[in-house]
Amino acid sequence: MTESENQSLNIAVVGAGPGGYAAAFLAADLGMKVTLIDPELNPGGVCLYRGCIPSKALLHVAKLLEEAQQAKNWGIDFPAPAIDLARLRSFKEGVVNKLTGGVGQLAKVRKVHYVQGKAAFENSTTLVVTKPGGENETLAFDKIIIATGSRPAIIPTLKIDSPRMMDSTAALNLEEIPGSLLVVGGGYIGLELGSVYAALGTRVTVVEMLSGLLPGADRDLVLPLHKRLEKMFEAILLNTTVSSIREESNGLRATFEGPNVKEREQVFDRVLVSVGRKPNSEIPGLEKTQVQVGARGFIQVNKQLQTNDPAIYAIGDVVGEPMLAHKASHEGRVAVEAIAGHKVAFEPHAIPAVVFTDPEVAWCGLTETQAEKENREIKVAKFPWGASGRAVTIDRPDGMTKLLVDPKTERVLGVGIVGAGAGELIAEGVLAVEMAALASDVAMSIHPHPTLSETVMEAAEVFYGTSTHIYRPKRG
Ligand SMILES: Cc1cc2nc3c(=O)[nH]c(=O)nc-3n(C[C@H](O)[C@H](O)[C@H](O)COP(=O)(O)OP(=O)(O)OC[C@H]3O[C@@H](n4cnc5c(N)ncnc54)[C@H](O)[C@@H]3O)c2cc1C
Repeated sequence: MTESENQSLNIAVVGAGPGGYAAAFLAADLGMKVTLIDPELNPGGVCLYRGCIPSKALLHVAKLLEEAQQAKNWGIDFPAPAIDLARLRSFKEGVVNKLTGGVGQLAKVRKVHYVQGKAAFENSTTLVVTKPGGENETLAFDKIIIATGSRPAIIPTLKIDSPRMMDSTAALNLEEIPGSLLVVGGGYIGLELGSVYAALGTRVTVVEMLSGLLPGADRDLVLPLHKRLEKMFEAILLNTTVSSIREESNGLRATFEGPNVKEREQVFDRVLVSVGRKPNSEIPGLEKTQVQVGARGFIQVNKQLQTNDPAIYAIGDVVGEPMLAHKASHEGRVAVEAIAGHKVAFEPHAIPAVVFTDPEVAWCGLTETQAEKENREIKVAKFPWGASGRAVTIDRPDGMTKLLVDPKTERVLGVGIVGAGAGELIAEGVLAVEMAALASDVAMSIHPHPTLSETVMEAAEVFYGTSTHIYRPKRG
């Protein structure tokens, strides 16, 4: 399609999270007429208002508090921190306002028509938008992209009406620093928010019904995190479920079930339920279109992100796992390119996942867990951070970098990292996997010294048995 043909296209994007606004901005850049619809004052969605961004602002503060404590080991004693919760909240809100205001400006300069409101389908190409004041506007388009995201999942048996019960949104509001907090669910959101509260002084207990934290992640990546969290948290209860929660005058009484439960009931000041997220696919009027919704509530799409309705595309959390902001943005760009007639498909080899705890855990491409399940032959090359000069200078040898390599082709299929700053380091792994790099490409690329990035290079050297900082006696 030419630029002038694009200019005649009139498209709507429903939902202005990182999927929706990335799609809207690219569509505008390609010359389309774009309307972006969302209930908030500015674009941003869950990610900017109540997800990635506020949680990372608070985790930054948590890291500082942790480091100040660790400084004792380096001969520096800070007095106990005085926490001004109102100012901490306003720092976090300032970050959110700056970024959402910024994307609002970017929408304006691109001439994206931003409509504050909730959209419902009249038919495949017509939306009715209900504005904050209650008035309705009917708008017609050539194509519509659904980017309505997701919301916290709830456990019906634990649903009680109490201000002490929190989901991730309420936890990020940081109303108080409770004395004790029960986190139900040992996934990344629970561990990140649990870490924030623990750093602020709360006694945090995490309950996970499976046998390990971060189900799905390779166990060797989770182990260093588990060890550190065991020191930071009051308790980590695995293979345990919460069967009921009752409100009492002094807190919430939780009942635990599981083979290792010692204390069946405990009272907590607050409870955070973080047991996953549900796609927002119950969009009013969707039944008037040909869009199909699958069993788990995800809207079904093909590799161009087109739904069963030729006029409607869908992207982001509402179409499936992994429910991550960068996956949503990439899908948004693919959908728009597909609408513009480009030959594109969403078929990444590596979608990075990052858990922003301390240490951070990050991986991309193939995991060992997946390779085992699929019976794939791989060679795993691990470089322990105890042998990294940089890791020792920052007193964080508790990390590990590993490459999953195809033993025949020597191609890097996956990368896993646990350690301080793993979330930044994984980007090199994404590039290696996407560019079909061989372990030798990584090993022969000169990495700056002293940096943690050298651990990626040295893991590649480990694959060939020639890592500079690891001595392996010759066999025979
Ligand atoms: C606490 C927390 C921390 C997280 N941290 C990270 C992280 O570090 N990294 C990461 O990659 N991901 C993280 N996530 C996940 C990330 O926020 C989501 O994957 C991402 O926001 C999904 O983007 P999206 O565009 O699909 O939708 P969303 O960001 O969910 O946005 C959807 C928007 O659509 C709007 N909407 C819904 N229905 C309608 C309608 N009918 N009409 C108009 N608008 C509608 C919603 O109000 C919302 O604003 C985190 C999530 C949480 C909760």
